[in-house]
Amino acid sequence: MVFSHGVDAGLAGVFGLLVGSFLNVVIYRLPRMMYREWLDESLQNLQDAPPVPSLWKLVFGPGQDTPRELEAAATAGGKQLQALPPFTIIGPASRCPRCGTPIRWYQNVPVVSYLVLRGKCAACGNPISPRYPIVELVTGGLFAFCVWKFGVSLQAALWMAFCALLLCQFLIDLDTQLLPDTLTYLLLWLGLGGAALKLTGIPLAEAVWGAILGYGVLWVIFQAYKLATGRIGMGHGDFKLLAALGAWLGASYLLPIVLLSSVVGAVLGIALIAIGRIANRHIPISFGPFLAATGILVLVLGPQAMRDYFPFAFALDRL
Ligand SMILES: [Zn+2]
Repeated sequence: MVFSHGVDAGLAGVFGLLVGSFLNVVIYRLPRMMYREWLDESLQNLQDAPPVPSLWKLVFGPGQDTPRELEAAATAGGKQLQALPPFTIIGPASRCPRCGTPIRWYQNVPVVSYLVLRGKCAACGNPISPRYPIVELVTGGLFAFCVWKFGVSLQAALWMAFCALLLCQFLIDLDTQLLPDTLTYLLLWLGLGGAALKLTGIPLAEAVWGAILGYGVLWVIFQAYKLATGRIGMGHGDFKLLAALGAWLGASYLLPIVLLSSVVGAVLGIALIAIGRIANRHIPISFGPFLAATGILVLVLGPQAMRDYFPFAFALDRL
């Protein structure tokens, strides 16, 4: 029984390595696709807007002459954008960022290829970031953990999705300070759906309150910080991500998550400075990566540990 359980977890781990390889692609491409989409939208808006001369007159007055270069520049910018080749999650095939050589399928086997290629592009020797195999290994480990904990079940599959989405958000936010709504909303809907189907272990009402308060609490902190310091301490992406975590874990977990995130943030921040990832301490690190990492940590530690560490947060549950 225990043996077959171990085999199931091992198979889930191998599946996790493959999914991790896909997550690497999502983490790299999704933000770039978003930038591209914004450019495309801007172009569309430019095309739908009144022509440059009338816009110019609208802003600067009818007596003003429109600089001809401006109109030429707007047209040229639009043409350049339209000339860009398509770029999605599935295409074009992955290439070495330095020499552009396409990566063959056998060079794309999770972890193994990295070891065989000794962390270098086969064509030009450009170093490949160890992050790729690390993401694959972490995904494999988390998937194995989910099946170990929940067995081969819909519940395990749901928590695997939880881990995969949070891992993406963690690294995308670290790279770009963005938390793509596509991923956060998917996480939110899966959390609410999971509660409705009794798969996440919390009542639906608590999941809904988790989402509402998760957004609300950070919104209040954001407004208070802005009033007190005149600065913006975090982005709306953080509110949405905490709302999604609230939907999965319930309202009682919000305070522990925010507290743990600060600890995770301090530890990760020091680690990132130590490995030279943050050379300039004035570059703000957003809260998102710490929230995402904490979400996974809470799953791994388990609900009982959270109750032991943060008894005050669960005081209301006993009423
Ligand atoms: Zn290369």
